[in-house]
Amino acid sequence: MNKNLNIEELVAADNAHHFHPFTDHKSLHSEGGARVITQASGVHIWDGKGNKLFDAMAGLWCVNIGYGRKELADAAYRQMQDLPFYNTFFKTTTVPATLLAEKVASLLPDRFKQIFFVNSGSEANDTMVRFIRRYWEVQGQPERQHIVSRHRAYHGSTCISASLGGMSAMHAQGGLPLPNFHHVLEPDWFQHGGDMSPEEFGLKAAREVEAKIKELGPDKVAAFVGEPIQGAGGVIVPPDSYWPYVQKVCREHGIPIVADEVICGFGRTGNWWGHETMGIDPDIVVMAKGLSSGYQPIGAVAVSDGLIGDFFDKGGEFFHGYTYSGHPVACAVALENIRIMQDEKLIEHTAAIAPYVEEKMGALSDHPIVGEVRVKGLIGAIELVRDKQTRARFDDLGRVGGICREHCFDNNLVMRACWDTMVFSPPLCITEAEVDEWVDLTRKALDATYADVKGELS
Ligand SMILES: *Cc1c(COP(=O)(O)O)cnc(C)c1O
Repeated sequence: MNKNLNIEELVAADNAHHFHPFTDHKSLHSEGGARVITQASGVHIWDGKGNKLFDAMAGLWCVNIGYGRKELADAAYRQMQDLPFYNTFFKTTTVPATLLAEKVASLLPDRFKQIFFVNSGSEANDTMVRFIRRYWEVQGQPERQHIVSRHRAYHGSTCISASLGGMSAMHAQGGLPLPNFHHVLEPDWFQHGGDMSPEEFGLKAAREVEAKIKELGPDKVAAFVGEPIQGAGGVIVPPDSYWPYVQKVCREHGIPIVADEVICGFGRTGNWWGHETMGIDPDIVVMAKGLSSGYQPIGAVAVSDGLIGDFFDKGGEFFHGYTYSGHPVACAVALENIRIMQDEKLIEHTAAIAPYVEEKMGALSDHPIVGEVRVKGLIGAIELVRDKQTRARFDDLGRVGGICREHCFDNNLVMRACWDTMVFSPPLCITEAEVDEWVDLTRKALDATYADVKGELS
């Protein structure tokens, strides 16, 4: 960092010129401006005031190998010197793009051999939608246009990926969702399960997928799309009964299943893929974030043999791609990221440390405002409630989550609030001592939140 950098001046410049994503600028500017993050190492980040924070979000669910890995910087430096850019359109490729396609295919089940590169999760989902609709045209079934997804799904922020997602606040702006995107009940037992057992509720949610498919007409449906575990929707871990039934229904009607693995992929749930953890056999896998651990922007769509054979044979040219599809620097960095994950057995480490996180985080469920703690691999959530027995929420959903998030920051901890659900997804390199540090900070933030709201408890 430039030692002469004046943080106050920088924040003033930020307020004057920086239009931020997903930000209420009126409150940003009135509350003193953006927090400037200047450095990071392992599971920690530093802000411009010199505070060291525990990053329990791995950036935005993406820095799976942890911060500060020089090997990735070296890989980028080497590739920029050899070839900073060349495209992959019109029958050309670069060395890292081809090697990364081969590598990603090797991490997936055998039926996935073809990998399309993009620069983000949103672009990956746009690509997936364009592909699947084109696939059905090539099959002579152009009427298969409808795509079924879930409420509170997050699939990105472009017009297509925000339509595919089920975020009502995003849909409320600018005329989304686009036509032919449909959303059904999310498999969130804690929020919607009432007196049902989780297994009963999982089946109920899965039957809503079936009902929507029947309502649309199964031969009009292009795909069912889901995150194995919904991330930004509040880390919704479906009951065990959910995915098998959804998969059975889709198979019966010949409807492809798309796993959006942008968060779950690359080890997050303790396996390489969330679909392994949740017992799904998808036809398409969408990935981004963990592919490069966030060190470079890159995403990809993997398509299985069942879909690709006819598409290549009969489809002609697919008129789709991005200038930076398969960007050589991003691919070189992703390759180095995967090499580290494999050599350092990071996925095995995640699976091995997950029970420790479950035990330590799970102990927070004795807290007066915690209704549930759930953990799968190294992704999880803490539900904040007014009444532990009935799972009743505080008034004005999202308010207490916001209070808790601020107490986290005040205690040098980054955790995100999805409404009143605190979510976490720390770097996968986390150690047991770091878990202890994180859980202590979390309890402090919960205690401070409790002090603010205890008059509201029933
Ligand atoms: C973050 C995310 C996306 C969008 O990725 P961007 O790189 O932000 O475009 C898509 N799907 C899921 C599941 C995500 O979490």
